[in-house]
Amino acid sequence: MAKVDIKYTKLFINNEFVDAVSKKTFPTINPQDESVIIQVAEGDKADIDKAVAAAKKAFHRYSEWRTMDASQRGRLLLKLADLLERDSKYLADLETLDCGKPVKNAFGEVFFAASVIRYYAGKADKILGSTIPTDGEVLSMTLKEPVGVCGQILPWNYPIPMFVWKIAPALAAGCTVVVKPAEQTPLTALAVAALVKEAGFPAGVVNVVPGYGPTAGAALTASPDVDKIAFTGSTEVGRIIMSTAPKVNLKRITLELGGKSALVIFNDADVEKAAEIAHNAAFSNGGQCCVAGTRTYVQSGIYDKFVAKAAEIAQKRTVGNPYEDVKQGPQIDDDMFTKVMGYIDAGKKCGARLVAGGERKGNKGFYIQPTVFADVKDDMKIAREEIFGPVQSILKFETFDEIVDRANNSNYGLGAGVITNDITTAMSFVRHVRAGSVWVNTYEHVTCQTPFGGFKDSGIGREMGEEGIQQYLENKTVTISLPKKPQF
Ligand code: NAD
Repeated sequence: MAKVDIKYTKLFINNEFVDAVSKKTFPTINPQDESVIIQVAEGDKADIDKAVAAAKKAFHRYSEWRTMDASQRGRLLLKLADLLERDSKYLADLETLDCGKPVKNAFGEVFFAASVIRYYAGKADKILGSTIPTDGEVLSMTLKEPVGVCGQILPWNYPIPMFVWKIAPALAAGCTVVVKPAEQTPLTALAVAALVKEAGFPAGVVNVVPGYGPTAGAALTASPDVDKIAFTGSTEVGRIIMSTAPKVNLKRITLELGGKSALVIFNDADVEKAAEIAHNAAFSNGGQCCVAGTRTYVQSGIYDKFVAKAAEIAQKRTVGNPYEDVKQGPQIDDDMFTKVMGYIDAGKKCGARLVAGGERKGNKGFYIQPTVFADVKDDMKIAREEIFGPVQSILKFETFDEIVDRANNSNYGLGAGVITNDITTAMSFVRHVRAGSVWVNTYEHVTCQTPFGGFKDSGIGREMGEEGIQQYLENKTVTISLPKKPQF
């Protein structure tokens, strides 16, 4: 196991690392061997209130942040991106320690995060309002202004990218933020917070308060001084936020939630290539991915060949010590491990055909064998519910209209994919599937330039791309009296 020097375990408020007001701490657990990595300061309402007050002060009209040129905000973000890359090895090692993902993936994610920061750095001084032709003797225009103090609540599956997806557009827009990382993975958020300070962001612009959802997360959601909540996590908690956040003030709310995405493979596809794409769609990040393509629909003409290939690839998937050259590390924690094993058990009991995996791997750490079920039916639990683990369900279909209906027969609508060599089939599927991202002959190609988010119960709003920054801006309409013929 790698030795990682953990430098930050306290709350980051007003550019300082501080203890929790209660002095309480909570353990963060190593998913490789279930040991305690370290104790981290546990923020709750009192700390959230302090952090929100700091963010509010930093957003005051005459503050350093509010009077800073937009291009300077961009420069600070560029500096932050450079610092992430400078510390990429350290951040990747720390991420792997805390969440168990293969270190080479964690390393790639640091560079991906840097690309997101640079994208939004470039947008900071290109936030444009418009002039609007209006009736009457007036001139009208819109100004785009930052929403204000933003509460940002994160999941544990991609801790550094999720942190950056939230803070980069908010900072480019001129907002200030209080971030609540997931309790399972607080360490890299604190390490990146130290880089925020080193980059030169004024005190209070970024604050990071680790803690639990029902305490710290709920306090952030309920704060009357928070103007917007951006949340990524489960649909279940998304619903709680939707119902509790507006009780004190009508906060702006964006939600990036769960999924049960369908990847549809037509008879004309190359089976080997399709099976590879489908494997990566289902098993990427150990299946702990909101857009995981876990419902693999295969047309009947290639079904048997596809199932055999999918099983073969899954059996060869390397699972083990994430600091070695493996494809998959342990699942995040005991809760998720138990939940995923429960789904595997349900799959076995409901009559699906187990063709790969199906068991725990080893007897220490949260490792699970890559598992493939064939002959899955739409009404089975494993086909309906988000598993968030290394489990692929393969289902058979016959016709185009049938598969569009079946793909859409879910409350979720985050991602979808289609594999075919026929452009009309591909584009007809794209047109009719109800999902926020649709991939053709590829899967989970997510970039900083393209908006990401869900239809239906998969969320509200979009992150990344131009849409991502718009979620942190208010429109102010300005109308000025301007006679058509001045009386000079
Ligand atoms: P989760 O909903 O349990 O927790 C997410 C965050 O919400 C954590 O920080 C948690 O502490 C906090 N939280 C929990 N209860 C809260 C409450 N009452 N009030 C405020 N905050 C609260 O989700 P998770 O297990 O961390 O992440 C997995 C889920 O996230 C999956 O459903 C996955 O699909 C989804 N996800 C979605 C995206 C996306 O972009 N759509 C990305 C990653 C993960």
